[in-house]
Amino acid sequence: MGFSALVVRKDEESGKTSAEVETLELTDLPEAEVTVAVEYSTVNYKDGLCIGPGGGLVRKYPHVPGIDFAGTVEASDDDRYKPGDKVVLTGWRVGEAHWGGYSQKARVKADWLVPLPDGLDTRQAMAVGTAGFTAMLAVMALEDHGIKPGPVLVTGAAGGVGSVATAILAALGHKVAAVTGRPEQADYLTSLGATQIVAREELNETTKRPLESETWGGCVDAVGGPMLARVLGQMEYGASVAAVGLAGGANLPATVIPFLLRGVNLLGIDSVMQPYDNRVRAWTRIAKDLPMDKLEAMIHPAGLSDLPKLGSEILRGQVKGRVVVDVA
Ligand code: NDP
Repeated sequence: MGFSALVVRKDEESGKTSAEVETLELTDLPEAEVTVAVEYSTVNYKDGLCIGPGGGLVRKYPHVPGIDFAGTVEASDDDRYKPGDKVVLTGWRVGEAHWGGYSQKARVKADWLVPLPDGLDTRQAMAVGTAGFTAMLAVMALEDHGIKPGPVLVTGAAGGVGSVATAILAALGHKVAAVTGRPEQADYLTSLGATQIVAREELNETTKRPLESETWGGCVDAVGGPMLARVLGQMEYGASVAAVGLAGGANLPATVIPFLLRGVNLLGIDSVMQPYDNRVRAWTRIAKDLPMDKLEAMIHPAGLSDLPKLGSEILRGQVKGRVVVDVA
């Protein structure tokens, strides 16, 4: 029986891509051990790239994007999963090099799946999505290195990673300073638990001083670029920055002085190749430490046909909170 999927095709002559909802058959899906009836997916920056020309991420066309999904196992050749199991998938280049979650059915390797933790349903799992999962990895990395007394700074706070990081850190009892370039999102960020709003321009200005006042007890950074360089010089002695994203640029115009004189740690966070045990640890923590009413306030519902528009919006930094795509 046919099912719906967002398919990106490339015109070989012009090199242009187009994305449309099409009807596919099970035989169209790639070979792998587990077939999942996808219920929900979401929209990430990488999805924006892959719905469009791919930005070098897509290996071959036609392609089904969607770098994460949650759903129910329909068939499995692997002992770890059986029909009816609820699962979530993020990373492993699914939706880039392998067909992804913008489809009512997906076929993937058993190694890539994580059982949905108790306390989360498939819709909530995709409200969290890769962005929220990565935010939790960042919080865990900060905890593993010790969060200092000052407020924890979250950059790109009104975005997906930032929103979830803000809600988790606040629920854990930390003071959260939220950096945003959208002042109109201040009430939203306060509702998630931020106790201080910092204007993006304040941290985008460059300074020649490698060290400023010791202000932040930790930082989840979704922005990178000159803002990250500036933040490094404002960290408390021994505090850590979890570097998650590059919404503000991939370059890092910084000095090593904060590392040498203040023992600041710069912690790299990768969600794609994260080992299984840490994935389970992060999803378990999400179910425990992310208040579900806060998560609900971040959700913007969408369907498969909304994806081309949403893909270009996320590339322009115009998506607030978490888009949940109802695939079924
Ligand atoms: P979003 O687009 O939802 O959020 C990014 C936010 O960054 C925006 O909402 C905006 O926040 C801020 N921002 C955008 N442009 C700029 C700019 N030029 N200067 C400063 N701030 C800016 O994306 P996500 O939250 O989903 O992802 C954030 C980053 O993390 C992306 O770069 C993404 O690629 C990366 N990422 C990395 C992962 C990993 O495994 N390491 C996994 C998932 C995401 P505001 O409006 O509040 O200022």
